[in-house]
Amino acid sequence: MNRGVTFKVVLLGEGSVGKTSIVLRYTENSFNDKHIETEQASFRTKKLILDGRRVELSIWDTAGQERYRALGPLYFREANGAILVFDITDQDSFNQVKDWVKQLKRVLGDDVVLCIVANKADLEKDRHVSMQTAEEYASAVNAKLYNTSAKLNKGIEELFNNLTQRMLEKTPPTPNI
Ligand code: GDP
Repeated sequence: MNRGVTFKVVLLGEGSVGKTSIVLRYTENSFNDKHIETEQASFRTKKLILDGRRVELSIWDTAGQERYRALGPLYFREANGAILVFDITDQDSFNQVKDWVKQLKRVLGDDVVLCIVANKADLEKDRHVSMQTAEEYASAVNAKLYNTSAKLNKGIEELFNNLTQRMLEKTPPTPNI
């Protein structure tokens, strides 16, 4: 098997959209009904094998970053992938995603693999952002849209697998020596 590759993945989005919940669901398969407050940026790692390639994801959670917007570029520098999360019941959180995409593109250009995540899919009856609006926006900025529910564990594994796949496609394997 090839030598492993490490990717930096950052999560961005307004407070309470479910960023930490998505990371905890993916890395620990756990879910908490309460908002988990973290004061500083924190990261968790996850190892996986995809298409015979060993991958380590270093997943950075913004953790209050929304209050320290100026830190943005420092935080997402050298990111291979970005997960921009909004809450389908909160129109404003969708608008914030657009701001983050602009910032990301300014700093990283088109080098970063973008994922727009419509989280809290279990709250369909309270939906305020239509699928069509989100789809149109995602394709306009060359991102992919994923529908998730961290609560019900829906779409989370697919999100990270697909993101990893897309990052691998940008990274030719290093030959074994
Ligand atoms: P963050 O501030 O973006 O990291 O958001 P958190 O992960 O702390 O989640 C904020 C709140 O939303 C918490 O009460 C979570 O339990 C809840 N939450 C997160 N994901 C979901 C989801 O998929 N569905 C529902 N119904 N609630 C969620």
